[in-house]
Amino acid sequence: MVKDNVIEKIIRKAKEHGCQVATDEYLSGHTTFKIGGPCKAFISINSIDCLNDLIEIADKENYPYFVLGKGSNLLFDDKGFNGVIFHLGSDFSKISLIDETTIKAEAGCSLINVCRFAYENGLGGLEFAFGIPGSVGGAVYMNAGAYGGEIKDVLVSAKVIYKGKISDINSNDMDLSYRHSIFQNNGSIITEAVFKLYKKDKSEIKSLMDDYLKRRKNKQPLEYPNGGSTFKRPAGQFAGKLIEDSGLRGFSVGNAEVSKKHCGFVINKGNATFEDVTALIERVQKTVMEKTGFFLECEVEVVRYKSDEVKH
Ligand SMILES: Cc1cc2nc3c(=O)[nH]c(=O)nc-3n(C[C@H](O)[C@H](O)[C@H](O)COP(=O)(O)OP(=O)(O)OC[C@H]3O[C@@H](n4cnc5c(N)ncnc54)[C@H](O)[C@@H]3O)c2cc1C
Repeated sequence: MVKDNVIEKIIRKAKEHGCQVATDEYLSGHTTFKIGGPCKAFISINSIDCLNDLIEIADKENYPYFVLGKGSNLLFDDKGFNGVIFHLGSDFSKISLIDETTIKAEAGCSLINVCRFAYENGLGGLEFAFGIPGSVGGAVYMNAGAYGGEIKDVLVSAKVIYKGKISDINSNDMDLSYRHSIFQNNGSIITEAVFKLYKKDKSEIKSLMDDYLKRRKNKQPLEYPNGGSTFKRPAGQFAGKLIEDSGLRGFSVGNAEVSKKHCGFVINKGNATFEDVTALIERVQKTVMEKTGFFLECEVEVVRYKSDEVKH
């Protein structure tokens, strides 16, 4: 059973740190899919010390928690999350220059704002990320990438909280590969990232950023809530093409649909439920396997409700 006295302790400590706290907050308001029921408490983290203190309590009491960035790669259950959400967002989003070509950003920064900051300082290398709607923490966790670039190409190091200790970890030690990082396996929390960029003409940076954004608007179903590419690319293939070749363009379950604009995206046509989306994902996986022999691994992370939560 989730222990109510522990959540009270966590909330008290969060308030001591001056964090915003909401109880029974619906996660549908914090995910790009616009799906997800309530959590016990939703805490907007405002410092590394605060996060460290709250995690210490949660760990000691074995209380379930989930670290949320911009919620752009997540599908939460309609029943919600039976624990506390530590939200790393605008209250934890300082960006600064360490030297002429190096940027440090707190994990709650929007990746788009980091791209803008790089542009304003005449720094190239991050253009590929302009338009990825995640946070710095989520982008490192996922090794987010687009248009031939990946976070791995520009990341130098990150500050993390791991087993109660704050430390810096070099990007070479993060096991970064296509949509993968070591953080997906070891439960570390990323609190800050350092990016190495290079001096570049501002107009060149801008025209690349504009081009990528335009391509996104033309190709992606941004007019509907979604979680980005629903599936990872199988080696040498494109998930969207396999789905299309399997005859699933526009296929729907309830209010969830394989986007007609881009088959790699499952969209929420309006009030889609968690069950609609998960059933659609399973149908797509099964059909694509039968028709093409490829398994489509989910890129979107599905977070099912557990009445007795296991810690994230
Ligand atoms: C329209 C659209 C387009 C997209 N385009 C792209 C694209 O081009 N390329 C791409 O790679 N992705 C893309 N995505 C997916 C998504 O934006 C990325 O995966 C992004 O990196 C997720 O960041 P987030 O802050 O939203 O993470 P969340 O969705 O909040 O969380 C995702 C996972 O990261 C973990 N996490 C978040 N922050 C931290 C932290 N500080 N420490 C430890 N763990 C953390 C969470 O616990 C969770 O497990 C797109 C999504 C949408 C909706």
